Amino acid sequence: MYSELSPGVKKVYLQVRYLDDYHWEIADSSIRGVHKKSNVEVLIDVAKDRKEADALSEKDVDGIHIVAIPEKGVFYIKNGTFVLTYRYLKATLADINDHIVWAGFKVTENDGRLVQEDIYEYLGGALVNHIKNNVLAGQDYIFWQFYKCEECGKYVDIENLENHLRGHGIKLHEKSEERYEIFEINFRDGKVYDKFGKEVKLDLFSDEAKEFIREVLSGTH
Ligand SMILES: [Zn+2]
Repeated sequence: MYSELSPGVKKVYLQVRYLDDYHWEIADSSIRGVHKKSNVEVLIDVAKDRKEADALSEKDVDGIHIVAIPEKGVFYIKNGTFVLTYRYLKATLADINDHIVWAGFKVTENDGRLVQEDIYEYLGGALVNHIKNNVLAGQDYIFWQFYKCEECGKYVDIENLENHLRGHGIKLHEKSEERYEIFEINFRDGKVYDKFGKEVKLDLFSDEAKEFIREVLSGTH
C-alpha cells in the first residue's frame, strides 16, 4: 500500500511523479521509470546517506541507475550510477529525456498490418559530458539526425536527405527503413561531435549538410 512506503520513498516519488515522459512504478525502496517513447528504463533507489548510496551504486541495473539521498548539494557519478540530492532528480530526469533521441524507424509486418517501429538512442556519454561542462540543450547545442549515404559515403542531414538521394537516382519514399547517426551541433565550439564526443569534420558531410550546419551554427536556420 502507498501509505506503507517509507517517507524517503514518498519524498522521492513526489519529485518525479509530474514528469509524464516516464511511466512510474514503486516497489519497496525503489522507483522504476520507463521512458514512454523509447522504453529506456530508469531505476531510482532511495538511500539515507552517501555511504549507503555508494554501496547501492555497485548494484547491477538494466538501464539508468540513480540513487537519491536527502543530503543537500550532492551530485556525483559512481560506478556509472548518478548519486544525487532528492531535489536534483527532476532536472536530471529532464536531462536524460533530452538525451534520448529519435534515430530512425523500420516498417515491419505484423498480422497483415504494416507497423512503424521507431528507434531511439540514449546518449549517455554525451549526457555525462554535458553535465560536467554545464551545457544546455537548445542553448549550447542541439542533436540532429544525419544519414550516411550508401552511394557517396557522406553524412546528409535528415531534411536534405530526399533531395540528396534523388541526385543518386534513389527514391527515399521506396525505403521502409532509415537509420540515422545522432550528432551534436555545438554552438559554443562551432563544431559537430559524434555521440562519443569525437569531432566530426565538415569534409565528411555532403554539400547540402555542410550548408545546413553553417546555417545552424550562425543561427540563421
Ligand atoms: Zn550521397
